[in-house]
Amino acid sequence: MPMMSERAWDEEYDVVVAGSGGGALTGAYTAAREGLSVLVVESTEYFGGTTAYSGGGLWLPGNAALRRAGDDDRPQDARAYYRAVVGERTPRALQDAYLDNGPRLIDYLESDDAFEFRKYPWPDYYGSAPKARGDGRHIMAPSMPAARLGSLRERLRPPLPSDRGEVPLPDELIGGQSLLGRLLLALSRRDGVTMRTAARCEGLLGDGVAVQGALVSTGQGRRRIGARRGVLIASGGFERNQGLRDRYGVPGAARDSMAPQGNQGAAIQAAIEFGADTDLMSEAWWSPGITHPDGRSTFSLWFTGGIFVDVHGERFVNESLPYDRIGRVVLDRLRDGDIRLPFWMVYDDRSGARPPVQSTSVPLGESSDYERAGLWHSAATLGGLADRIGVPGDRLAATVRGFNRMAESGVDTDFRRGEEPYDRFFTGDRSPLVPIEQPPFHAVAFGLSDLGTKGGLCTDPDARVLDVSGAPIQGLYAAGNSMAAVSGTAYPGGGNPIGSSMVFSHLAALHMAQRR
Ligand SMILES: Cc1cc2nc3c(=O)[nH]c(=O)nc-3n(C[C@H](O)[C@H](O)[C@H](O)COP(=O)(O)OP(=O)(O)OC[C@H]3O[C@@H](n4cnc5c(N)ncnc54)[C@H](O)[C@@H]3O)c2cc1C
Repeated sequence: MPMMSERAWDEEYDVVVAGSGGGALTGAYTAAREGLSVLVVESTEYFGGTTAYSGGGLWLPGNAALRRAGDDDRPQDARAYYRAVVGERTPRALQDAYLDNGPRLIDYLESDDAFEFRKYPWPDYYGSAPKARGDGRHIMAPSMPAARLGSLRERLRPPLPSDRGEVPLPDELIGGQSLLGRLLLALSRRDGVTMRTAARCEGLLGDGVAVQGALVSTGQGRRRIGARRGVLIASGGFERNQGLRDRYGVPGAARDSMAPQGNQGAAIQAAIEFGADTDLMSEAWWSPGITHPDGRSTFSLWFTGGIFVDVHGERFVNESLPYDRIGRVVLDRLRDGDIRLPFWMVYDDRSGARPPVQSTSVPLGESSDYERAGLWHSAATLGGLADRIGVPGDRLAATVRGFNRMAESGVDTDFRRGEEPYDRFFTGDRSPLVPIEQPPFHAVAFGLSDLGTKGGLCTDPDARVLDVSGAPIQGLYAAGNSMAAVSGTAYPGGGNPIGSSMVFSHLAALHMAQRR
């Protein structure tokens, strides 16, 4: 365990925050507002992390923004839903801390005019679970002009289409960009806040019992930074580190994860070296991912047609399920050998040859590039299409015939597609069972993508990191994808990742503010 005497600090703050996603900046903001000095260290050249790519949705039941929109959700109903979905996989006290403190966090933030949230209906992801809500429990920060950020804009990680693609930076900040823009503005107005990019937390320093500081590598070398009240690790997961994925048995490939390159897990490893316990280490927030000519598969949703088929030419899932639930079925079928990567979505020509996939995170390029790469195929008959994608033609034709019969009756007796509110969310409440009958027929390749790993450091309801005996490590806190997710192996609703990252970072900072 790294030891450090107080005299050796290069710099000293009350709080050091590793990472700069929505959770980390909420923790930094809370600490500063509670009167603490804060250093934020971000390993890449931009602030924002995966949160900068995100929709910025927050699943925080019962908050003021939902209530203003007339929401009649009750705390006991939200709790019943969360319990039904997450079960006993994570401690009840942790689940309660998330649920109880979401509304308090929104009150806290909205008392500062930098922040505003509005309800954005987005159905809960387990629509058949008790007390699921068809219009969800989901809020977002409204969009704002990028110009409001002034020079801070240059320090904010661009949205995915600009960061990974050629799309120019938009004039309006939406989703995660707006959330982070507001956090950066609010932080810029507070005293005692220092923010650094290209500064990576690589180690934790302490007296053998408590964490007292962090070892941070910068362009100018390694710095020993004292943290009088504590260190908050909110530096995402280790999704972009193939070596750690292999070590912990996380399926899928680092290149198919949606996080920016900086999410390497160095601070999580530092905490493990300090004695922290971990859980859920092979878990991620999963998604089917459309495969691009560069070989990367990206988080995809909003399907307005199509069926997925396995190596036998048969359907294997309700294609309209929330992405994490599809991802979990894909993982099961991969284990059984019923699908191989890529697997295929089959659809007809009613809307043309482009896939019926409205959100691919990274915009689709020219069709010819995908065709040349063997990722998109078309054929006049289903048999011809089956040959191209390597599945039995008679089975594919039988699958499509069966599916078309169900589309006509409106009832998917195989996978119940269309029965939960989320299934119909992207088709304007119409049936998502769109028949496949107009030639030519098409197939598009999919891989397994993830939004980030969700295994990490075990924490208590104050976000204190626990050691292997279950005792809190003094001065060490974790949140977001750096902590073992409060949602366990489930994804209860859009906005859980960032919502829980923000709540636990906020609780960490409040705890540090009270700590002597
Ligand atoms: C397209 C898309 C849409 C999404 N939409 C939503 C949504 O609407 N709602 C939702 O809840 N979730 C959404 N997600 C998922 C969500 O964005 C992430 O799970 C979440 O943002 C992770 O937050 P975090 O605080 O754990 O870390 P991140 O936001 O990933 O931030 C981690 C930061 O820490 C930095 N870092 C890593 N290691 C170190 C270190 N050692 N020292 C210093 N810095 C370090 C990284 O460079 C990174 O900047 C979406 C994801 C994608 C890709």
